[in-house]
Amino acid sequence: MNRRLLWIFVASLGLAAAPAATDSGQGSPAATRLALVGGMLLDGHDAPPIHHAAILIEGDRIVQAGPLREVTIPAGTRIIDTSGRTMMPGMIELHAHLVLLGHGDYGRWFPWIEKQGRAQTLPQVMEIAAKQLLMAGVTSAVDLGAPLAESLAIRDRIAKGEVPGPRMWMSGPWLTRNVAIFPEDYQIKVTSPAQAAAETERLAAAGVDVIKAHAGLTRDDYKAIADAAHARKIRVHAHVYAETDVRNALESGIDVLSHAGSAGTAPPYSEQMITDIVNAGRPVVITAAHRSWVYPDTAAFPERLQDPQLKHDFPAPLYDEVQQSLQNWRALPYFSRTDREVFFRERGLKQFIEAGAIMGMGTDSGTPMNFHTEALWREAKAHVDMGMSPQRVISALTRVGATVLGRQRDLGTIEPGKLADIIVVDGNPLFDIVALAHVQTVVKGGKVYKE
Ligand SMILES: [Zn+2]
Ligand SMILES: [Zn+2]
Repeated sequence: MNRRLLWIFVASLGLAAAPAATDSGQGSPAATRLALVGGMLLDGHDAPPIHHAAILIEGDRIVQAGPLREVTIPAGTRIIDTSGRTMMPGMIELHAHLVLLGHGDYGRWFPWIEKQGRAQTLPQVMEIAAKQLLMAGVTSAVDLGAPLAESLAIRDRIAKGEVPGPRMWMSGPWLTRNVAIFPEDYQIKVTSPAQAAAETERLAAAGVDVIKAHAGLTRDDYKAIADAAHARKIRVHAHVYAETDVRNALESGIDVLSHAGSAGTAPPYSEQMITDIVNAGRPVVITAAHRSWVYPDTAAFPERLQDPQLKHDFPAPLYDEVQQSLQNWRALPYFSRTDREVFFRERGLKQFIEAGAIMGMGTDSGTPMNFHTEALWREAKAHVDMGMSPQRVISALTRVGATVLGRQRDLGTIEPGKLADIIVVDGNPLFDIVALAHVQTVVKGGKVYKE
């Protein structure tokens, strides 16, 4: 249905309303109005879909949402016809890396950036990542690990509308006892709980949105970090795989357990560990698909590495560099433990799904072969394939994600008063979750970024 026909359809139902000025109710009369009209609505709650629905947006907020016949659309409202498709809240990615673009080898990627001229190339890389996420339907994202100045700069430029991207929560450099292969200013080495607290305070004062605490910190380190962060009203995401790290993080008050369950520990976590996480109501962000699904899926379809979208998004030298890094992808050090991880992947994920843990969705997007363009729908598919209902997965991607961010008041569902972060996907994700790969429209804060 084209716009004109749609308008006639709306008018014929008696919904074409009075002139804007008398009908605006609340909100400034100057606020831009936008309506998404006709498609199925998944509002982010665990509720049945609303068919032939409409969403009315004024400025950056949702003002009405429901069955089309119950939504009053003022004359002059800009209309996007969503009929035949699905409307849902923008997705929330709880573990992304804007400094990475799927390149195969950190030992080569960071020197390449230096060689290109970091001052210019690193912000450019982060811009590409942010845009890819947004175009893939991600309207909010947590970045867990990048240099401090660049982290804050990209977040603020996105917020000002200078760069298209999701609303960003940036950790800046992570806190660790064991320095990894990443460059120095991506990580802060700590040697005592007191220093861990001081570094947390310094990052918070500099303006980060979350803290990332790496594996291998002591229980006292985690406790010091959590206390310092909470005093500043920010949350801590722990990068934890081994059960001891998970337990230390859980018991010292770390807010989000990231990666837990994804790395093929043998055996999967003890029942007591899972029970304690569930009873504590502590969210987990498993990042299940990175490596354990991405690797076998690439073996089955190596053509995915030449996805035309990547060629479209990357400047030629960057595309060539990424392609070269992936030429012998089976031998990359990043995948050296993948056999074991694939072996345990089902048990690792199912133990959380079946225990009813609070699960947000995050992907470690940007890591080798884990492209921002598609990481989140791959993660969603892994969860569905392991028995999580598509409806619960969509809640995890939206409403639960907002809770993990502490932003359930204004993000994560489609209802009056919330920020208008909405996507439209082709098809029915309740029937086939891979519909999330086909994001056709992206609205963030009432502004249309993709149509
Ligand atoms: Zn991590
Ligand atoms: Zn990560």
